[in-house]
Amino acid sequence: MSVRTRFAPSPTGYLHVGGARTALFSWLYARKMGGQFILRIEDTDRERSTDASVQAILDAMDWLGLDYDEGPFYQTQRFERYREVIAQLLDSGHAYYCDCSREHLAALRERQMANHEKPRYDGCCRDKNLPASAHTVIRFKNPLDGDVVIDDLVKGRVVINNRELDDLVIARADGTPTYNLTVVVDDWDMKMTHIIRGDDHLNNTPRQINILKALGAQLPIYAHVPMILGDDGKRLSKRHGAVSVMQYKDNGFLPEALINYLVRLSWSHGDQEIFSREEMIALFDVVDINTSPSAFNTEKLRWLNQHYIKNKPPEKVAKLLQPYIKKAGYSTDNGADLQAVLKVFQERCATLVELAEEIRFLYDDFAEYNTKQAKKQFKPAVLPILQSLQQQYSDLQNWQAEAIHQVVENTVKTFDVGFGKVGQPLRLAVTGSGKSPSIDITLALLGKQRTLQRLEWAITYIKKVDR
Ligand code: GLU
Repeated sequence: MSVRTRFAPSPTGYLHVGGARTALFSWLYARKMGGQFILRIEDTDRERSTDASVQAILDAMDWLGLDYDEGPFYQTQRFERYREVIAQLLDSGHAYYCDCSREHLAALRERQMANHEKPRYDGCCRDKNLPASAHTVIRFKNPLDGDVVIDDLVKGRVVINNRELDDLVIARADGTPTYNLTVVVDDWDMKMTHIIRGDDHLNNTPRQINILKALGAQLPIYAHVPMILGDDGKRLSKRHGAVSVMQYKDNGFLPEALINYLVRLSWSHGDQEIFSREEMIALFDVVDINTSPSAFNTEKLRWLNQHYIKNKPPEKVAKLLQPYIKKAGYSTDNGADLQAVLKVFQERCATLVELAEEIRFLYDDFAEYNTKQAKKQFKPAVLPILQSLQQQYSDLQNWQAEAIHQVVENTVKTFDVGFGKVGQPLRLAVTGSGKSPSIDITLALLGKQRTLQRLEWAITYIKKVDR
């Protein structure tokens, strides 16, 4: 039978990295096994679900390249089917109406807590055979004894005695189905063979298995994936910075870097860190997922991102970078060819946002110098050096790296100083930050006109400070 996996997010917010990793594992397993991957939107909680969240999830799946073979299915469009299955469970004696009042249930709970017992429904209405009414809920008749055994692909064998479970509500008084019921019906109807999901759902699994059994459904295989922690050992949350997948996009990360990063959280293949998509698909297996939680490490993600930026053809980086340049508020229309610039600069940055900032000086005039650098480099003694450079560059016809370099060499000789005494102030004069690749290549890209103009500004600046 062909493998069928799914990702079943509740659209109550953006897609966060934990959800994305669960989706990735399900997707990888389906792709590896030549099976199908299904997207299902669990939007029955109408108060917390929003269209914007649905869109955010779809956008994130698309950006990450996690394509689905079926769906997105929406649970809100399947209420008719849930009603049908609930009726089936009532008919077969696996479910019953319950009219226990809120007060009764609260008092029960209080008593159990006082006795240090796990709060659970006491089965008060289980054998009453009550008819339906406006205030009755429907409960599932959980088996009273025996064990539920889960042979989890990640956790190993998990055994839960039915005495620890209770008769859970499967339909509210208004007739709407509850989460555990909808998941079961969908997993059954959609013929899921493997349920790969966060281990925060492990306590739902025995209940879902019991309902599946009552329906005579084939049981899927489960794999509960450990959670992702922040660098402080606590569950990853907003406190740790960006957790939304699309926030990573905004912050200048590439989807392949995030995917590569996520796959290595709780899964490994020897010491290998870099995986192409094809390699991931070939090497991944659910049984190799670790049982312990893994910690999110932004530095490692940055390292991977830099790797992927560095190894992309400049024309691809140029295309990807344009929106970030636009957002940074400048344009590359007037200045060096962006691809030529990227050949030199793209390996220097960990994110596209940083890259857009790094090359800004080539296209956009800066308003001030890095203060510390200016103090250090723009001393009065530098003035004649910069003036000499300005003169020589103004005379230079062949604006090529080699000739540009020769001018620096000549100046070093004329003034009888070290290379740094010429190169550093020159670099600060043209970049404003003091940061750039080799000075000859930098000036070649910046162009003659801009170089001269910036030398003029630096000279004016030093004269002013000098006074
Ligand atoms: N909708 C659930 C969630 O977003 C997932 C349910 C499942 O994977 O079974 O947490």
